Amino acid sequence: MTDIATIMTSLSTAGSVAKSLLDIKSISESAEARLAIAELQNTIADSRSEVADLKDDLMIKDEMIRTLKEKISKGAKLVRHNEMYFDAGEDGKPIGDPYCPRCLEAADLHVHLVRSNADYVNCPNCEKVFPRDPN
Ligand SMILES: [Zn+2]
Repeated sequence: MTDIATIMTSLSTAGSVAKSLLDIKSISESAEARLAIAELQNTIADSRSEVADLKDDLMIKDEMIRTLKEKISKGAKLVRHNEMYFDAGEDGKPIGDPYCPRCLEAADLHVHLVRSNADYVNCPNCEKVFPRDPN
């Protein structure tokens, strides 16, 4: 796959070729040819700018892909049980303390619920209260 640096080098070479055309006497004496070369140089400069923008967009997308991969790998290790989300053990069964289902589903936040009393747990983030044993 062609990378951004290769495209930039090609555009730079094209710019140098366009500039060197002006050294040819028959071209430099023609106003029409000089105008065409100026347009060519502007087009090359615009292309370089667009490629630089593309490079920025690609970097942003790469970062988004990295973040999403992290979320997917984290999400794949969760298991839903009794309306709560838990980390999944190697056997796929829930282990540890439950995560707040509201924060997880609405904001993709992994917030462990904490015990309020013998019957209820609450979320330290959204402060929603859940029955400790929903069944
Ligand atoms: Zn919550």
